[in-house]
Amino acid sequence: MKIVRVESAVDDITYGAVEPEGIRLHRGSPFVAWEPTETVVPFEQVRLLSPVIPTKIVAVGRNYVDHAAEMGSEVPEEPIFFLKPPTAIIGPLQPIRLPRDSDEVHHEAELAVVIGTVTRKVAIEDVGPHILGYTAANDVTARDLQRRDGQWTRAKGFDTFCPLGPAIDTDLDPAEGLSVISRVNGDIRQTGSTVDMVFGVGELVSRVSQIMTLLPGDVILTGTPAGVGPITDGDRVEVEVEGVGVLVNPVVAA
Ligand code: ZN
Repeated sequence: MKIVRVESAVDDITYGAVEPEGIRLHRGSPFVAWEPTETVVPFEQVRLLSPVIPTKIVAVGRNYVDHAAEMGSEVPEEPIFFLKPPTAIIGPLQPIRLPRDSDEVHHEAELAVVIGTVTRKVAIEDVGPHILGYTAANDVTARDLQRRDGQWTRAKGFDTFCPLGPAIDTDLDPAEGLSVISRVNGDIRQTGSTVDMVFGVGELVSRVSQIMTLLPGDVILTGTPAGVGPITDGDRVEVEVEGVGVLVNPVVAA
């Protein structure tokens, strides 16, 4: 199933499921009292929103060998986690706004895990039922500020720096290898596969859950493959995760 959050004339903002003829609106949410309605709204009559509103976004640095190499870094022995604020989230087609403080903003195409249930101190082999599904994310990063600050809160925390979407797919298995691709103005910048992650989804979720309780809707970004690079005013950046779809965002100056 592909789960979306949409705005339409039929209902202000609601969750829905993708069907051949359009979006079937649902009552409740995929986390509580999820129930289909009789209403299917044609695709052209809905606006897709970020598919989820998490309490937190936990991300991981240098989780692909080739990206660590292009950053001049070693692959870490343990995953390096950091947080992005939920206020950074935007949905499909919403603009990424380049902050005046930075001259070097990069795209980072990533597979995003959406947590389905309260997840606390869960072993790797028990992670599966805690995952609702997967979506695509762009871990937008002000690379110059990341270098200058020595930590990543500012570089990765600006408003609009976490595009998410377009849908949450509940049937995917990243262990089988999903391609993760970014394009800028149609040109491919990054191509990777989730089988090349240093720490897999099960290990990431388990390790985060030893630190902090993950709540339904929380999002874990799983790192980016090689090929990160600048985005500038007027660009159109796409992140495609195999099986999820394509997340498209324009880029504008602040
Ligand atoms: Zn990243």
